[in-house]
Amino acid sequence: MNKESSAVAKKSGQFNERINSLIAEMTLREKIGQMSQIAGQGGVTDQLKKAIRNGEVGSLLNETDLDTLNEIQRIAVEESRLGIPIIIGRDVIHGFQTMLPIPIGQASSWNPEIIEKGARISAIEAASVGIHWTFAPMIDITRDPRWGRIAESLGEDPYLTSVLGAAMVKGFQGDDLSNHDSIAACAKHFAAYGYSESGKDYAYVNISENDLRNTILPPFKAAKEAGVATFMTAFSDVNGVPATANQLLMKKILRQEWGFEGFVVSDWDSVIQLTTQGYSKNHEEAAFDSVSAGVDMEMASRSYIYHLEDLVDQGRITIAQIDECVRNILKIKFDLGLFDDPFTNETAFPEKGNQKHLEIAKQAAIESCVLLKNDFNVLPLNPEKVQNLAIIGPLANDALEQMGTWTFDGVESWCETPLQSIQKAVGEHTTIRVARGLETTRTKNRDGFAEAIEAAKLSETVILFMGEEAILSGEAHCRADIDLPGYQNELLEEISKLGKTTILVIMAGRPLTLTQTQHYVNSMIMAWHPGTMGGPAISDILFGKVSPSGKLPFSFPTMVGQIPIYYNQRKSGRPAKQNSFLHIDDIPARAPQTSTGNTSFHMDAGVDPLYPFGHGLSYTHFSYGGLRLSKNEMRLNESIEILIDVSNVGDMEAVEIVQMYTRDRFGSVTRPVRELKGFQRISLKAGETKTGRFEMHTDQLSFYNKEMKCVTEPGDFDLWIGGDSNATHHAHFKIIS
Ligand code: BGC
Repeated sequence: MNKESSAVAKKSGQFNERINSLIAEMTLREKIGQMSQIAGQGGVTDQLKKAIRNGEVGSLLNETDLDTLNEIQRIAVEESRLGIPIIIGRDVIHGFQTMLPIPIGQASSWNPEIIEKGARISAIEAASVGIHWTFAPMIDITRDPRWGRIAESLGEDPYLTSVLGAAMVKGFQGDDLSNHDSIAACAKHFAAYGYSESGKDYAYVNISENDLRNTILPPFKAAKEAGVATFMTAFSDVNGVPATANQLLMKKILRQEWGFEGFVVSDWDSVIQLTTQGYSKNHEEAAFDSVSAGVDMEMASRSYIYHLEDLVDQGRITIAQIDECVRNILKIKFDLGLFDDPFTNETAFPEKGNQKHLEIAKQAAIESCVLLKNDFNVLPLNPEKVQNLAIIGPLANDALEQMGTWTFDGVESWCETPLQSIQKAVGEHTTIRVARGLETTRTKNRDGFAEAIEAAKLSETVILFMGEEAILSGEAHCRADIDLPGYQNELLEEISKLGKTTILVIMAGRPLTLTQTQHYVNSMIMAWHPGTMGGPAISDILFGKVSPSGKLPFSFPTMVGQIPIYYNQRKSGRPAKQNSFLHIDDIPARAPQTSTGNTSFHMDAGVDPLYPFGHGLSYTHFSYGGLRLSKNEMRLNESIEILIDVSNVGDMEAVEIVQMYTRDRFGSVTRPVRELKGFQRISLKAGETKTGRFEMHTDQLSFYNKEMKCVTEPGDFDLWIGGDSNATHHAHFKIIS
């Protein structure tokens, strides 16, 4: 069936009929087979062939060889009794062959368009080897940078994550899932995985339903509205009920309240891990608990295939429940067009490493760089004038490490490192001295210091590439200390004593505590793990071909003790003035009030993070003025228009990300001090002024109240617009009943 007839079939409900007739023909074992996803075995083994022929495999993950995948599919459609195709899944998290920045880096772009394009090329590349389904986007809100998986997240804010997560879904799934280069997306991890206690992976989560609904769930709802095909459960134990057995999450919220019609997959082994969590007594009970909660497909472990038949015999699980799961899964297989065209033809796809994909990866890497500080405007460097340059650090020339977590073999082969790109950018008049300084970011000896210091001494400008290797973040890679690891700060301190112009480019999978580090350098760029085109992107920024425009999607704490620190916290009871008696003279606490209105603080760390959410400098300066609202009062279901003039008052063209925040002064439950409600990227030539325009509907000010109803309450609201979450251009409006 071609694309058009597929679309017609969907509309006419023809798939429903085909699904019904298939289900009518299936044995119970074949139905359970559809509900089972098994791990790839590095080829087509006899065991795998047998299981597929017997109809015991609905899906396979972690296999990426085209010939193997086509053969697996052939066995399924030609040699199993009903010929149901297999859906092939893989973690295509931030690229497949062309690697994009890690998701938290992409989120720093605040640009849904580039994120959608990035997901689109990832889908094309993954589809070209026979992958139909990615386990992305990860839209877990987290407020703990110790958590290794923060690298895969889109930051701390529900609104930003909602917008960017939905863009990823659209990019992966394309215009129509049945297109040969579309892959199904998966909203994960449902839910609250990012709230694991003290940022330890797999730890339990204690969260109120209010926080769950107001903070954690909005991005999932947005993904559902963007048409995401699947959801994945989480490893977390959420308030005593593991997510994989959580009826509130899957039955009540996802299916009943939101009307989700795709399928839900467990996380890897998370069904049988219900026993490890002390929730289900054995694997049979685990299968019972997860099917009862609405997990349609089990990933990796085999409790469904071993126990569901017995559970049906015992009458504990009904055939209707099984049919429901199978229907959800088959529906997505039909939507993907797998019944019509199950095989992958490589020639229908663009070549690996093609120019268009590389350009998108480069643009994403440029937009993900955040200029954290730039004293004396030492950046950008003028490539014509730089005579002597020292390039120091373990991450200057390491293609694999700049990729970050979830990378596939061989992707580094067409990558360009920062050192290579800088060598190209400066030309022959510049002497470049290269020194590693430290073997790895974690090295705890000074063996390489002398060489690095010598290189720095002989140069006017020193560019350091430091941070964390890829392995220091990602799943199960959590850290309690999030300073630069090893002796990196020590080396920086030594180099700072030389009085050179010093620029630090940080590549890392998480926000770090940079309180000490910042004092050693003039300028700092947060480049995250920037992917394949990290080198050219960073070089363009260093040499001013483009101004950085990235903004932090996460507050950077001054020290670990401040965690969790996030901009949209709720207010403390004690007003700032009274709270200030906590000051003690010998500890340099900062003023206990910021414009965000946060008032609670640690006396040795102050109220502010080191860098606030939304922070990011530019090579130019922007001024804001003329904030105006179309009206200051609105009734429920009305909108206001908000305008603000933004000028580029510097001398370089640049993009500013204009951010709009609101505060609901009083609510029937306490409300955050600020919430991001809109943002806009505005590109401005030197001297140019443009007007940013936002529309705000009263629905955007809704929240879940004590009864867990979504309400918009009349009352007074503050509004701020500016270049970060401390935005100061203020207006006031009311919602009247
Ligand atoms: C992770 C998931 C991932 C899955 C499959 C699990 O360990 O938590 O995010 O999609 O493995 O690789």
